[in-house]
Amino acid sequence: MKIGTPKEVLEGEARVAMTPDSARQLQKLGYDCVIETGAGALAGFSDALYKEAGVEVVKTAAALFKASDIVAKVRVPTEAEVKRLTEGQTLISFFNPAANEPLMTLAASKGANVIAMEMVPRISRAQKMDALSSMANIAGYRAVIEAGNNFGRFFTGQITAAGKVPPAKVLVVGAGVAGLAAIGTSTSLGAITYAFDVRPEVAEQVESMGAEFVYLDFEEEQQDGAATGGYAAVSSPEFAAAQLAKFRELAPEMDIVITTALIPNREAPELWTEDMVKSMKPGSVIVDLAAEKGGNCKLTVMDEKIVTDNGVTIIGYTDFPSRMAAQSSTLYATNIRHMMTDLTPEKDGQINHNMEDDVIRGATVTFDKEITFPPPPPKIK
Ligand code: NAD
Repeated sequence: MKIGTPKEVLEGEARVAMTPDSARQLQKLGYDCVIETGAGALAGFSDALYKEAGVEVVKTAAALFKASDIVAKVRVPTEAEVKRLTEGQTLISFFNPAANEPLMTLAASKGANVIAMEMVPRISRAQKMDALSSMANIAGYRAVIEAGNNFGRFFTGQITAAGKVPPAKVLVVGAGVAGLAAIGTSTSLGAITYAFDVRPEVAEQVESMGAEFVYLDFEEEQQDGAATGGYAAVSSPEFAAAQLAKFRELAPEMDIVITTALIPNREAPELWTEDMVKSMKPGSVIVDLAAEKGGNCKLTVMDEKIVTDNGVTIIGYTDFPSRMAAQSSTLYATNIRHMMTDLTPEKDGQINHNMEDDVIRGATVTFDKEITFPPPPPKIK
């Protein structure tokens, strides 16, 4: 069978779902690989590199979809792309199924089997395919780099002949995958780093990375933020109020705030209010990683960088992984390759779409002309 990767059609998207290295691995599973010309160019992978890796290069998206039994891409497909799918073809991609019912219906009517990469369950066995985590890790790192680029001072404190420089103070809100990556980057650059999460169980991890966990004046048994599977639940009004009071106290002291708070399938909780922004020092920077889901900061504008009247820069970019396209393509292509390994138990270049397998079942949103989303909860933790 052939696995193919088209050039991403979304304006500005620089990632690609297959790299020359991942193509070599896919060939070891028995697949032939094909790519649309220029698909890897913005991530630093030329057609020549793919050819060297034994990949066939075709001239158009139409030819790519026609040649491929399995299509692997990054961004949610467009309607035109789904229209190109044919019966029995497999599409592996981010799909955002909860928000894209018509696309799922179209794919099911075409008889295409769709694997949505964001639906890979967060269980240990599936970590190697967890593309949301690999992209969030990059976003957390890049958020700190972006903040540094917009912050007029050092992260680390220095004593120089020209004077003493205080270290920057960074607050990371939400210590999930992106938050922990941001904490690691911030501490390694030498900033005094604070972190808060509604799940108190992450405090130890935060502290082991050299950051200080921010505790609330709240009785521990009422810290009800923890839900299951490493995700948060909605906070009680009392807890949310105590959290905001703490942030209000910290806001004037912080130089950089990185917000990453997320509750699955909900709008982002609003945690950094207008009055907190107003109380920050001029030159401070907020990077709101939750911009795509409405933002954790009240003033965030999605996909933009704004500077407030009191001189605070607020960054709401939603394409951090694409801004590091070589790294993110490499990790995403590896996630896809691991998915293909599980789909090819015999390593014979033949897909075995086993709906009894928790991970494959969990990620499959259309199969055999049916919509199979949402999936049942996974049996194995
Ligand atoms: P995650 O689920 O691993 O982490 C989110 C964390 O937020 C969890 O630890 C959760 O406990 C915490 N949280 C929830 N409510 C909170 C609250 N009220 N206060 C404090 N913490 C709270 O998610 P992730 O994979 O780290 O992703 C984080 C965010 O980054 C998401 O919104 C995701 O969409 C976004 N993201 C953005 C980009 C980009 O380019 N901007 C790229 C990748 C991911």
